[in-house]
Amino acid sequence: NLGKNLTNTMKKLAGMSIIDKEVVKEVIKDIQRALIQSDVNIKLVLNLSKTIEDRALNEEPPKGVTPKEHVIKIVYEELVNLVGEKAQEVEIDKKPYKILFVGLQGSGKTTTIGKISRYLQKKGFNPAIICTDTWRPAAYEQLRQLTENMNLPLYGDPENKDALDLAKKGLNEFKKQDLIIVDTAGRHKEEKDLLDEMEEISAIVKPDEVILVIDGTIGQQAREQALAFSKTTKIGSIIITKLDGSAKGGGALSAVAEIGAPIKFIGTGERVDDFEAFDPERFISRLLGMGDIRSLIEKAEEIAKDDIDMDSVDAMMSGKFTLKDMYSQFEMMNKMGPMKQVMNMIPGMGSKLPKNASQMTEEKLGKYKILMDSMTEYELEHPEVIKQSRVKRIARGSGMRNEDVKELMKYYNVTKKAIKGFGKRKMGGPMGQMMR
Ligand code: GDP
Ligand code: MG
Repeated sequence: NLGKNLTNTMKKLAGMSIIDKEVVKEVIKDIQRALIQSDVNIKLVLNLSKTIEDRALNEEPPKGVTPKEHVIKIVYEELVNLVGEKAQEVEIDKKPYKILFVGLQGSGKTTTIGKISRYLQKKGFNPAIICTDTWRPAAYEQLRQLTENMNLPLYGDPENKDALDLAKKGLNEFKKQDLIIVDTAGRHKEEKDLLDEMEEISAIVKPDEVILVIDGTIGQQAREQALAFSKTTKIGSIIITKLDGSAKGGGALSAVAEIGAPIKFIGTGERVDDFEAFDPERFISRLLGMGDIRSLIEKAEEIAKDDIDMDSVDAMMSGKFTLKDMYSQFEMMNKMGPMKQVMNMIPGMGSKLPKNASQMTEEKLGKYKILMDSMTEYELEHPEVIKQSRVKRIARGSGMRNEDVKELMKYYNVTKKAIKGFGKRKMGGPMGQMMR
């Protein structure tokens, strides 16, 4: 059991106060084994090992971090470098926004289109689907059932065997929609024909985003596949499916490293809700066969950042306070207790707070969080774009009223103003010292 091996080596590291070259080499060997067993491409593993070794031997662990934690953290950071940071969302910034799905037959495109449609419906969008798969028997029927259940517009014609014509007609039919998702075939007589077809469809659809679907269970072939598809069209993001079984997704990792597109979501089952935003930490822990990487990293990071997240404090004090900052504040409040109490702990802050801010109830907090979950990443970062049509969409997506969205925006604006006013004061005195 490799996970166990790795854990054992990590244990060896635990008691040491100085990093020993031999031990680092041992850890790296274990990690190499774990990664190769998880189907990560060998060349990639070797490159990675070299970087990890250099860093582990040359970088001084921060004070309070044991060599073990330090090495794990380096391993983790380098792996995250490969798969990309936390998932970026689908950012729908024009109308109609067109998404093209590509990938081999059986990779899970059609199923995933159902999943992402449900996900986007929750955000208040209404995707229209075009079926251009003329190869799989009953491809249209599969989509018909899926879209009927979810109440989504579908364009397709089981009699028409011309994928390009289907794409054109579908686009024409859905001109007025917000969002169009194009499903494609993953099979042809010859692989080259399939790739040619993807290139042609892409030229017709002019997608705003191409999503490559990779079966998480296929191992090493994933890299080749991704490379082949990326030659026909620019892959914008990746979804890895079938991570509900024993597959570790190492092949997919190699694919990602090869084409450099981020993983946005993963599929974890056949049902429409078996769909998650990509979480690099979980993916990597799984890849390494280690369950406890999370807590180790948390500890290492906590010590390193000295308890206060100075970036967010600085951002707040400079007046940049987004809905996202407010969201993390809410999260913190959930843990720490009511806002007023928290603010009162900071001299000078309590009285500066708007009255209704201190009356934040748990019920409201819950409501605001649901509303924010229906916003896109862009909206959370740039709340000023939330005008009438977005208010409606957010309300629809969260199952609440327009007034609720407006109430949240009002709360945000009042809070932001209060913080801005506060930030203008000099950061000296007891407050300044507290924050530094
Ligand atoms: P397509 O040919 O790329 O459109 O693939 P389909 O969407 O038709 O899926 C092929 C098979 O994989 C179906 O039996 C799906 O139920 C199954 N499938 C798709 N995604 C997942 C997943 O995340 N987990 C599991 N276990 N099965 C999946
Ligand atoms: Mg399909």
